[in-house]
Amino acid sequence: MMFAEARSEVRRVGLALLTIVLLGGCSEPEPPFEPLIEHDGPNVLLITLDTTRADHLGCYGYQRPGNPRPISPHLDAIAARGTVFTNAFCTASITPVSHASILTGQNPYTHGLRVLHGLHEYRLPDEAETLGETLRSVGYETAAFVSAFPAGSRFGLAQGMATFDEDFLQDAESGIVTADGTVNTGQNQRRAGDTTDRALAWLDAHLETAEKTDEAGQGGAARPFFLWLHYFDPHDPALLPPREYLDARPIVAATRSEQLKQTYDLEIEYMDHHIGRVIEALKARDELDNTVVVVVSDHGEGLGDHNWWTHGILYQEQIRAVMIVAAPGQPAARTFEPLVRIIDIMPTVLELVGVDSTYIPPTEGVSLASVVAGAKSIDRPPSPQPDSSEPGLNESAEESREADAEAPPRLVAYFDAVNTLSAYGETFLRQRGRRDDMLFGICDGRWKYIHHFHHETESELYDLENDPGERKNLYGDPQQRRQAARLLKLLLERDLMPGKRRSEAMAAEDIERLRSLGYVK
Ligand SMILES: [Zn+2]
Repeated sequence: MMFAEARSEVRRVGLALLTIVLLGGCSEPEPPFEPLIEHDGPNVLLITLDTTRADHLGCYGYQRPGNPRPISPHLDAIAARGTVFTNAFCTASITPVSHASILTGQNPYTHGLRVLHGLHEYRLPDEAETLGETLRSVGYETAAFVSAFPAGSRFGLAQGMATFDEDFLQDAESGIVTADGTVNTGQNQRRAGDTTDRALAWLDAHLETAEKTDEAGQGGAARPFFLWLHYFDPHDPALLPPREYLDARPIVAATRSEQLKQTYDLEIEYMDHHIGRVIEALKARDELDNTVVVVVSDHGEGLGDHNWWTHGILYQEQIRAVMIVAAPGQPAARTFEPLVRIIDIMPTVLELVGVDSTYIPPTEGVSLASVVAGAKSIDRPPSPQPDSSEPGLNESAEESREADAEAPPRLVAYFDAVNTLSAYGETFLRQRGRRDDMLFGICDGRWKYIHHFHHETESELYDLENDPGERKNLYGDPQQRRQAARLLKLLLERDLMPGKRRSEAMAAEDIERLRSLGYVK
């Protein structure tokens, strides 16, 4: 259609010019892109919260100790408009690995981004199909504004995003001073305020371009957008909220660890404030009721639990995800307790916006659209799902088929921590303690098993129903041998270390950037 093509060309050129003006040319020039179809669905806003523990948000029941001020009023408001998944699992507690799962609907052993730093497998391969690529191919305008290097293009996470803004704060200002007096984190991360400013400028440009073409008699509404916002503030205290924000909210703590915990909460509160600006902007533009909003964390934070302050391993405080979906016309203020995974986000979003299944790439997740629409259990997947629960060892295949016909399918969650894999090597692993082992985990909602690859006898089994804090390791308990064997079998059915994909060695400069963020010692 000549006319339609010309119209979309006007839109595209106008938007490209505005984007260049606004972003100072920071994004890579894109070759002309022609979508396969022009799908007319709602917008998608994906907000990824780095390092955010579910149990530190109000909508997950958090009450800040001794302080009545709510920590996350704007995230709580999103939750009140939709469904809160209270038992969601990340696939890793490492930023790029987990983000690759959110964006592809695949487990790390399938999408191929396994590690944060190392000799290989730190980059999402080009052949991976991302949510951005799919939505762009059906006519969405795609844009991402990320707040830190580990969520950036070096890890292959920019695929499908026509605009990818990772132009981090260049001038190191107050609050970016590390304990030894060095100032260097500013180039590798930015605050929620800066990320939001850039994103809202893009949003205005996108919507105004559409209005202008409308006034010129060249068609009405903007093409729908897919906007991905990544926030990094709770990651660590190296980049604190601005001074005036901190001065208005003094931290009063008796101990260093209390001080750090309060700082963590304050960083969540600051991030939440700016998420509120995004929602307000959508409301003011009359777009909120036409936008599927998804909030998900890439992992949590130890905060001293299990004697671990940061993240990188597999206990619940690190691997449990924030997961909230609010979609137009769907019931509000719901919670869903059965196990779900971040790999379910991609199929859920694509179903919610009504993309024809022809255009949806295969994922390992299942769509939760029916749950968002009010169902109390997950829809039976149309074909056998690799991540559905297998029969117990004492069930015959027939018994399990009968049980399966009645009960809704139970999902199992996979997660791993193999960052040491390519960074060091086996000799090093054997010398170091169990915390440097490669860990492979699986959970069926109640039982959680963590397999220690190099020190198998140190593997862990927890009954989350009776021991949500994972205090009692039942791996050596003779009565629970069957559970451990069943979950190990589920792990071994997967091709956990395919080793087929090799990315080129990471550049020395990139290693330095990771060091500035505290990753490389
Ligand atoms: Zn992260």
